[in-house]
Amino acid sequence: MMKALYFNGTSLALQEKTIPKTEAGQSLIKVALAGICRTDLEIFKGYMSFEGVPGHEFVGVVQESSDSSLLGRRVVGEINAGCGRCNYCKAGLERHCQRRAVLGIAGLNGAFAEYLVLPTANLCVVPESVSDENAVFVEPIAAAAEILEQVHVIPASDVLIIGDGRLAYLIFLILRLTGANITVASKHENKKTLFEKIGATVFSSSHILSVKDKFDFVVEASGSPSGWDLAVSSVRPRGVIVLKSTYHGTLEFNASTLVINEITTVGSRCGKFRPALNLLSRGLINPTVLISESFKLDDYSAAFEKASDGKTFKVVFRM
Ligand SMILES: [Zn+2]
Ligand SMILES: [Zn+2]
Repeated sequence: MMKALYFNGTSLALQEKTIPKTEAGQSLIKVALAGICRTDLEIFKGYMSFEGVPGHEFVGVVQESSDSSLLGRRVVGEINAGCGRCNYCKAGLERHCQRRAVLGIAGLNGAFAEYLVLPTANLCVVPESVSDENAVFVEPIAAAAEILEQVHVIPASDVLIIGDGRLAYLIFLILRLTGANITVASKHENKKTLFEKIGATVFSSSHILSVKDKFDFVVEASGSPSGWDLAVSSVRPRGVIVLKSTYHGTLEFNASTLVINEITTVGSRCGKFRPALNLLSRGLINPTVLISESFKLDDYSAAFEKASDGKTFKVVFRM
């Protein structure tokens, strides 16, 4: 038996469940650390109508596997499990498979449990040099690095990151590697300091338009519709908005501005795990400072309260 958090569509409870069984091509992983992400908090509000064990950011150790060389190895896992047959899957784009299941988000029990099952093909071995505390960030780092797979940021680019949460922080660490000139628009004084510690130029969201010229690239990662409004008004004509936020509900805005100023808008979601692991193992980024607190599964109420208090960066479960 194992402990697992289970969301039934309305509420979350700690349950005793049987350890999941693996099928051909799958692995059983004993979770070591699992991170709480904003998506999890959205799920509790009804996002994706998910029912099951939430949690998609984890690092763990392989217990059973279709690939015996992985037994006992420390791994992270890509969260999208594709059908394996469609054109997206064949092109290595399982994350766009129309029949995909997503760990802890759609059709697949996730990481807020002592054990989880994933297709073996989704697993990436974590190098010795990468701690559990860093490896648990691979999924959001991959999502942040996805931006560079989509748009061409160069050292001469002026970039604005809207948002001051954990994803915005990781996006800053990644985009900084390009040498671009980056400004962060923050709403919370206490979060501002963490950005300033890593040398970021931070302005309050309400002041940014009065102190800075317009930007070549604006990355909207605030999670709030007001962030979108700021993105539209702070991007230069012919500039690019990278949209990282998934808003709860619908967005209302005057689309004419996008037409008149010929703005390109790029939606950006999940990225590749291996490049993200490489960035960590080469010491190019270090996100451990983001972990505010760790909790046991039993204390899940306190953990989620902490994760949604607006002041905290990352909360993790330590199994
Ligand atoms: Zn996430
Ligand atoms: Zn597919």
